[in-house]
Amino acid sequence: MPTGQKYTVDPARLDGVVSEPLFAAVAAEAAKQNVPAFAIGGYVRDRLIGRPCKDIDFVVEGDGMAFAEAVAQRLDAGPVHVFKNFGTAMFMLRDLQVEFVGARKESYNRNSRKPEVAPGTIKDDQERRDFTINALAISLNTGSLGALVDPFGGILHLDQGLLRTPLDPDITFSDDPLRMLRAVRFATQLGFTIDPVTFEAIQRNAKRLEIISAERIHTELNKIILAPRPSVGFILLRESGLMAEFFPEFLELAGAEEKFGIGHKDNFYHTLQVLDNVCAKSEDLWLRWAAVLHDIAKPVTKRFVPGIGWTFHGHEDKGARMVPKIFRRLKLPLDEQMKFVQKLVALHLRPIALTKEEVTDSAVRRLLFDAGDDIDALMILCRADITSKNEKKKDRYLRNYELVMQKLKDVEEKDRVRNFQPPITGEDIMRAFNIPPCKLIGDIKTVIKDAILDGVIQNDRAQAWQLMLEEGRKLGLEASGHPEP
Ligand code: ATP
Ligand code: MG
Repeated sequence: MPTGQKYTVDPARLDGVVSEPLFAAVAAEAAKQNVPAFAIGGYVRDRLIGRPCKDIDFVVEGDGMAFAEAVAQRLDAGPVHVFKNFGTAMFMLRDLQVEFVGARKESYNRNSRKPEVAPGTIKDDQERRDFTINALAISLNTGSLGALVDPFGGILHLDQGLLRTPLDPDITFSDDPLRMLRAVRFATQLGFTIDPVTFEAIQRNAKRLEIISAERIHTELNKIILAPRPSVGFILLRESGLMAEFFPEFLELAGAEEKFGIGHKDNFYHTLQVLDNVCAKSEDLWLRWAAVLHDIAKPVTKRFVPGIGWTFHGHEDKGARMVPKIFRRLKLPLDEQMKFVQKLVALHLRPIALTKEEVTDSAVRRLLFDAGDDIDALMILCRADITSKNEKKKDRYLRNYELVMQKLKDVEEKDRVRNFQPPITGEDIMRAFNIPPCKLIGDIKTVIKDAILDGVIQNDRAQAWQLMLEEGRKLGLEASGHPEP
């Protein structure tokens, strides 16, 4: 039985489709040119289950490019963009992306997912699709106008929430291994089940993922992460053997070792719970990635310390250092987004650790200073990370979390260190002591910053100025007599 299926199929959702302007224009052009034409693929699937869809594909048994021009003209739409290499043409109709392609047959060569293509019939075209639910077509031809063309039981599978390939799955997946990741992605997005025969073929062909580019892999992975409950996809990725091909570090999280009767939690499932928890609170892809990676270094930092038990000392720092390596391999962006993920991984223990003793203002100020504008994201991650099965422990952590949240609010209102700008600049210091740029300036700035964070002085220019003069004196500098501006 499908788990978590969110959609129901209703064929009545296709009622009246052929009188909608786009479909009517395609049908009229098909009749005029006497060329069979069909709406096909994801759009048909999504419409039947009432899921929003931003792109629509049409297949014609003929020249898709010329056909696209004619339809665009009928609709007063355009310009039409032609992709000769792919034999496709597209135009925008308001915010709907409309694509046309000639029906084709494909034959594959073992070392590439780029097939040889030749003109074919609608049936040939449906056979080369990845899943039966993605092979559904609507006829736009005289005599069968508006009829569903479903040679592989796609509508039944859509109703059952089943992902199954139209042909022998071993051939479908070996031809284009990306389809295996798409299977997991659709299962996660739609809450569908991968048919056992199809799933076993994925397990047999998982190694074929090696011919797929990192960009295509991360595109599917990101779609899984952006689904409402990505854990579903991660479990399928692991069980299918696909994860081993591109994300071995995550696989390492699995398992709960025991020594002298003392175990630790299975960090694979723990991480997935944290990820699902974050997803309930935020749509942000990179915050979700931070959840994926927050404990990634637990396996490499794990130790059993007699008398203490399992420890993962330094996993947050080591984990932060692993982020760029993983992002680079998956060809994910290495700029701001990566730095954000890295920062959250590095800081993820701080909010709760802060409560080990009493929650002091200065510790809270330090946290605000280090997290800056990412403090809200960090607190979402931190809250999501409280998953202990031990109710007492969980209650204590939750109380601590609330305490930190309250303190964060109070301290930020009072001290505004979230976007800390030093109240005294290097320029100020040079002018005050009449000195050229040198190391002393940095030293004085650090003393002022620490004094503010530690609550010795307030985040205030006059107080900071006084402190600067005192520090300068200690360092043997002479004030230039320049007044505080
Ligand atoms: P989404 O738009 O949500 O990513 P989709 O199913 O519409 O899902 P597209 O990439 O837009 O996916 O592709 C449109 C259609 O093209 C699919 O429904 C499917 O019929 C076919 N298709 C896409 N990629 C493949 C593939 N790798 N192998 C076989 N058929 C594919
Ligand atoms: Mg689509």
